[in-house]
Amino acid sequence: MAKIDPWGSNAVSDYDHVFKEFGLTHFPESMKKQLGHRFFKRNIVVAHRDFEKVLERIKKKKKFINITGIASSGPYHLGHKADLDLFVFFKKCGAKNYFCVCDIDAYCSREKIKSIAQAKEIAVQNVADALALGLNEKDIYVQGNKEKEYYSFAFEIGKKITAKTFEAIYGHLDLGKVSSNLLQYADILHGQLPEYSGKMPSVTGIGLDQDPHARATRDVAKRLPYDFETPSFIYFRHLSGLKEGRKMSTSHPETAIFLNDSEADAKKKINNCFTGGRPTAEEQRKLGGKPEICKKYELDLFHLESDAKLKDILEKCKSGKRLCGECKKLTIDYMGKFLKEHQTKAKKNLPKAKKIVYG
Ligand code: SF4
Repeated sequence: MAKIDPWGSNAVSDYDHVFKEFGLTHFPESMKKQLGHRFFKRNIVVAHRDFEKVLERIKKKKKFINITGIASSGPYHLGHKADLDLFVFFKKCGAKNYFCVCDIDAYCSREKIKSIAQAKEIAVQNVADALALGLNEKDIYVQGNKEKEYYSFAFEIGKKITAKTFEAIYGHLDLGKVSSNLLQYADILHGQLPEYSGKMPSVTGIGLDQDPHARATRDVAKRLPYDFETPSFIYFRHLSGLKEGRKMSTSHPETAIFLNDSEADAKKKINNCFTGGRPTAEEQRKLGGKPEICKKYELDLFHLESDAKLKDILEKCKSGKRLCGECKKLTIDYMGKFLKEHQTKAKKNLPKAKKIVYG
């Protein structure tokens, strides 16, 4: 069985292989239209497992669980913003929201995090960012501050997955990662316990490289002594870094735009990014650029909200009417404005964030 590394930072580019091997369902056009968000319309969400039942709930205005989590292992970048934008979208669809700040997971599964205290320190800014992006206090919990019910549930899950199964899915038995995983399964499933929201469909947005978690969680859900709905997942493409080949990652800061980057830093990074421009201006005017390989265009695809502006960028690129320098300036302008406004909001939310993290 092929392994996908949920902790790595290499992008998954062979989508066909992933679909075939892991039995994912392509995200149908009809669903994209019904949901209407840019992530669906622009093929950023590419696949799903069992999403029909969540869509049904949305259409009937019935509750469903919206659960996702991010390890507090570094500052948030635009890839994390994409996760949070999707979370906010489902929140607006009327979900019961569970955004997990994974402090324990960050410490147990990442070598670079040296203590839980360090993970908590990072979590404060992460939570301030999440609040600034549209979450509120009630939507967020920190693993380390959870109730005893959540922890006894995580131990209970431990009995339902064997070392052999774990090794077959993840390819190793690193105990830090095993304990992180037990918490992650608990994160996705605990909302269905009677003490929380009770039995109902749930949705979690993940990257294709995190599918091992999804399959294991769905399997565990069926074997626990509760009448759980098997959790649904939607899969999105990862936002690439600004250079060739990798997903945007905290481990490669020169290729990522962080939510706390200054306008000047963001400008520098966008100006230095890998584009689909031709070797000479003359050639580009004649042949047009190659947006399909351009990291700047990918940034727009994920984060430029206006469909009309995105269409204009694409058309002018392909026809050679606009060259890369001018095109980058458009992104620098809207991104700079976003970062400035976001940082003002996040700063105001810092006291609230500290309270959420430290109690
Ligand atoms: Fe990318 Fe814009 Fe250049 Fe096209 S014109 S390759 S979208 S930077």
